[in-house]
Amino acid sequence: MMTKANTFLSPNKVMLGNGAVSHVGREAERLGAEKALIVTDEGVVKAGLVEGVGESLRAHKIHAEIFDKVEAEPPARIVDECAQVARDEGYDIIIGIGGGSSLDVAKGVAIMATNKGKVVDYAGTDLVPIRGLPKVLLPTTAGTGSEVTRVLVITDESDKSKKAVFSDFILADVAIVDPLLTISMPPAITADTGMDALVHAIETYVSVNATPFSDVLAIEAIHLIAENLPAAYAKASNIEARFNMALAATLAGMAFTSGGLGAVHALAYALGTEYHLSHGRSNAVMLPYVVDYNKIGNLSKYANIARAMGENIEGLSTYEAAERLVTGLHWLLENISIPTKISAYGVSREDIPKLVEGGMKQNRFFVPNPRNLTEEDVKNIYISAF
Ligand code: NAD
Repeated sequence: MMTKANTFLSPNKVMLGNGAVSHVGREAERLGAEKALIVTDEGVVKAGLVEGVGESLRAHKIHAEIFDKVEAEPPARIVDECAQVARDEGYDIIIGIGGGSSLDVAKGVAIMATNKGKVVDYAGTDLVPIRGLPKVLLPTTAGTGSEVTRVLVITDESDKSKKAVFSDFILADVAIVDPLLTISMPPAITADTGMDALVHAIETYVSVNATPFSDVLAIEAIHLIAENLPAAYAKASNIEARFNMALAATLAGMAFTSGGLGAVHALAYALGTEYHLSHGRSNAVMLPYVVDYNKIGNLSKYANIARAMGENIEGLSTYEAAERLVTGLHWLLENISIPTKISAYGVSREDIPKLVEGGMKQNRFFVPNPRNLTEEDVKNIYISAF
């Protein structure tokens, strides 16, 4: 019998610092690049965030072009289209800059520049045969942690489902986390993406696949997010809060790469596909209800999360402390203007069976979840969220 080997995976190099974008040229040069394709979306270009990347590449005599057609919850066809450009024009490095959508497309383009077929052919685990082009990833949201994970998520338009490609080849060669790139995020995007990072950290901390590595990273991420998300939401230019949120999102990404996710991701899924809530928002809305349901699966860890979030749990039982966490999450969401009733997003009571069906289809997320779920349990969680 093989013993469990707790594994920690991350990019070869992770850089964090205000202004760190200026290192992209030197890192690309170190990777042997001469011709870079910058993969991003129009919003990121409009926010002026690509300029620093271009300047740094030019300073290192690296020719660069921009592909800015990434769409949110990116359709697989965008990856295939951009990979065709990368192959035809002979780019030798991919620079991804943006939120999770842009970074995931950049990761897909890097592998599809050297592998045959279409990106959906590689949906699943460890199916990518050939290492892709080198890639440098720069997040502009403090949310997904995609800059440090071994997964990319795309939308398969043929059946409107989201598909994930897991491979060690998807890990960045260099992740450059520059908190200054996140300052232009409007409050709603700050809130949604920050909650995405919190969901990553909480789900991985209580996962049955949690490791000593993911525990340390996740609990620190939870602490940082609870302290800094309200401040980053309240004042976009709060550099200390932005720095701590950028760090937290990256730590949470590293954590879930080792420890996995849970039922929040499953139950949020249909809110995203059917009601077009952003990835972060749909996860945020379901979080307190799933925590309330899950808590008896690992009371002491939920109590630790309550403590890390600043709840005073002195003298409380672990059960009471876990209940305090549920209240604290509602308080946090209210303060960053995220309504927690699914009815606020156009869901009617008659829609609940459709949500249950969508949630049950994602039951792979139930495996690492600390409490088992039946169809009836899923229905009851949606009813409490209604
Ligand atoms: P996003 O990339 O879709 O961006 C949302 C919007 O924010 C876009 O309009 C974008 O232009 C804008 N934006 C981004 N940064 C900005 C900035 N600094 N200033 C102003 N506007 C800015 O959002 P996201 O939440 O970061 O990513 C969601 C995607 O990431 C989903 O497709 C999800 O499935 C995926 N995801 C991937 C991983 C992973 O590990 N690969 C993990 C979680 C989520």
